[in-house]
Amino acid sequence: KQITDMNALADEYLRLAYHGLRAKDKTFNCQLITHFDPTLSTVTVVTQDIGRVLLNLYNNAFYAVQEKACRDGEQQQAPYQPTVTVQTQNYGDNVVICVRDNGTGIPEAVKRKIFQPFFTTKPTGQGTGLGLSLSYDIITKGHHGELTVESQEGKGTEFTIRLPTQTPPS
Ligand code: ADP
Ligand code: MG
Repeated sequence: KQITDMNALADEYLRLAYHGLRAKDKTFNCQLITHFDPTLSTVTVVTQDIGRVLLNLYNNAFYAVQEKACRDGEQQQAPYQPTVTVQTQNYGDNVVICVRDNGTGIPEAVKRKIFQPFFTTKPTGQGTGLGLSLSYDIITKGHHGELTVESQEGKGTEFTIRLPTQTPPS
């Protein structure tokens, strides 16, 4: 584990995920908003593992806004601005990272299953269903943290990572 600046890591992987998608699909467009607390405490983490979690959350968020854009397009609704917002803050002895999107949202019945391995709502080839279950294990078992979700169908989704600033010895 390494002492890590989560602001830098969250920002680096956000741009990595976004430009990765843009390289495959030039028409993909999404507003990126970041609120990084400049006083954020450092955390001692396996940097690569937390990077994988962030990539999973970002890719899911980008998928959800793209899906929403397609659906709205079919229904010819008012212009839609796909947006992914990343926020960091200190909260007691935790560092909190929120990844929010204004995409499709998650229906209640689906929400109960999203952390299960191999659960996916994506077409074959588009998703393995392993991203969130792996992310959950990395955050909870690997780092004594928490990974939670709040979502409103049709409105969007927010995943919250909580990481203790003082990781107990493992
Ligand atoms: P995958 O992305 O391969 O489907 P994940 O474990 O990353 O697997 O996610 C599982 C499921 O959770 C997705 O198929 C999707 O239904 C739902 N999900 C995850 N993140 C979001 C999100 N930001 N917005 C809407 N649905 C989501
Ligand atoms: Mg995924």
